[in-house]
Amino acid sequence: MNEFELIQTFFARQQINRADVAAGIGDDAALLQPPPGQLLAVTSDLLVSGVHFFPDTDPAALGHKALAVNLSDLAAMGAEPAWFLLNLTLPKVDAAWLEKFCRGMFGLAREYGAQLVGGDTSRGPLAIAIEAHGFVPAGLALRRSGAKVGDRIYVTGTLGDAALALQQRRGRLSLPKNEIASVAERLDRPTPRVREGLALRGVANSAIDVSDGLLADLGHILEMSRVGARIFLDKLPVSPVCRAHLNDLGWDAVLANGDDYELCFTVPAANIAALEKIPVADDFRHIGEIEVEAGLRILDESGKAYRPRETGHDHFAESKRGNT
Ligand code: ADP
Ligand code: MG
Repeated sequence: MNEFELIQTFFARQQINRADVAAGIGDDAALLQPPPGQLLAVTSDLLVSGVHFFPDTDPAALGHKALAVNLSDLAAMGAEPAWFLLNLTLPKVDAAWLEKFCRGMFGLAREYGAQLVGGDTSRGPLAIAIEAHGFVPAGLALRRSGAKVGDRIYVTGTLGDAALALQQRRGRLSLPKNEIASVAERLDRPTPRVREGLALRGVANSAIDVSDGLLADLGHILEMSRVGARIFLDKLPVSPVCRAHLNDLGWDAVLANGDDYELCFTVPAANIAALEKIPVADDFRHIGEIEVEAGLRILDESGKAYRPRETGHDHFAESKRGNT
């Protein structure tokens, strides 16, 4: 199978044909029509075999995740997904592998109405780079820099399941079979919070997706917004499975392991009523407050300062703003 046949067989056949794609796969460049008055949100993520995923990872999960991490970035900007490009290096043409990869990727693409409009394919060590494009009305984009003193801090969904799945996979924790399935799903097939990101337009004043762990990612909001924060361990949302293993897993993993792909966002007091009217608001958890004092303060159940051992970054009470 040559490169042309590979593209025709696996990538040109999609069930999505957006009206704003004047030319998709097959020409020298795609021709796309963004809606008037909206900004184009553009993001890209690279997944390298052996670095970002185990070489024997289920290709369907890989296809899903490669797109999901990009849609998660769009969600964190409050952008609506539209188009994506796929750059792929493959050691060999393995039809069974490609079929599964496409099933995972296009399955998720269909859910969000995103169309593959181009890319590049080459022989090489397995690596997957997706670039996704979305729309957001000018002025409604959710930036990292918009948090203000007095805002409430929220996260969507739950944190820590992906960390738990990773520990299980590395043999450091042993979970019962039925529990493994639910947390493995969170690690392998994260749900990008696109609906939530769209609903937060005009309600949240800053947002980020939690890919590197809450500490690091909330830290980015604090730094870019030039504020500090306090969060409470007992307010952090964790799943029942994660809660059951919290003693072995530890809060540090929940706070710092990442791969959660939830949104962390801030809401000013004036917008709390609007926030509570959002249909998926039950899924939002208030975890703390934005404060004047730089750095992040974490309080445990008894109100004592909690100091994570491994943080991988500098955003703590004693650290100075902007020293990362
Ligand atoms: P060129 O040499 O002009 O870059 P290619 O042969 O690389 O053309 O690609 C031909 C067409 O197939 C282009 O429209 C390109 O965007 C598309 N394409 C190539 N690889 C991929 C891929 N992995 N996924 C989606 N489209 C692809
Ligand atoms: Mg090319």
